[in-house]
Amino acid sequence: MHFLVTNDDGVRAPGLLALVDAVRPFGKVSILAPDRNWSGSGHVKTMSRPLRVFETALQDGTPAFASDGAPSDCVALALLGYIDEPVDLVVSGINTTSNMGHDVTYSGTVTAVMEGIVNGIPGVAFSQEGSEFGPQDFAVSQHVANVIITQLLSRKMPEGVFLNVNIPDVAVDKLKGIQLTRQGLRVYHSRLDERLDPRGGKYYWIAGDKPGGVPEPGTDIGALANGFASVTPLQLDLTAHGKLLDWEWYFPIDERN
Ligand code: MN
Repeated sequence: MHFLVTNDDGVRAPGLLALVDAVRPFGKVSILAPDRNWSGSGHVKTMSRPLRVFETALQDGTPAFASDGAPSDCVALALLGYIDEPVDLVVSGINTTSNMGHDVTYSGTVTAVMEGIVNGIPGVAFSQEGSEFGPQDFAVSQHVANVIITQLLSRKMPEGVFLNVNIPDVAVDKLKGIQLTRQGLRVYHSRLDERLDPRGGKYYWIAGDKPGGVPEPGTDIGALANGFASVTPLQLDLTAHGKLLDWEWYFPIDERN
């Protein structure tokens, strides 16, 4: 299996090397990741400026490519021809905070995998609950990645489906298991933080406390709240099926004036 590994925390993030180490036993690994942190960048297609790619290496010397584009740009670059050999699976992460519920459209980790789907390649996004800035042990996520990739060797992902995997920040032997989930309800505590620059001009941070969520059983948020890793199958079709069926969509031409 040929893996394309990317992330949204930047090519030098320890979580990227942890994911490379987790998938390396299963095949060939190519790495193309952003040259800086793009957390929260969402699904980006850079069209107003050129993209540059340069050779770099991970902390253990593994050769990698870095780009000044977003995580989704990195996946597009790789799949549209920068990486010669066909890619079988896009893996993204390991992100240093969870990406659950409504987070998925904000998440550079998840939207990198969405870009794989746009290009016909399945993928898995890995995010581990924890501190955005503190050092983190990724052994538990590596274990979960091993379980999932082992299954993917003998099973085919359904067309257009990708996996959003969230892992609690616990020791491997404290993980209760892995649950198949649906998206839960994230509750954001965002507020606008207005400040002044040195010349008196206003600027803003979208700030606030860490998001919470409703830990309903069967959801990603519920799984992590109970010590389980969460695997949510997602697709890009956001259609609200079965809604607005009783609205009137036909206007006879003689009633328009
Ligand atoms: Mn991130």
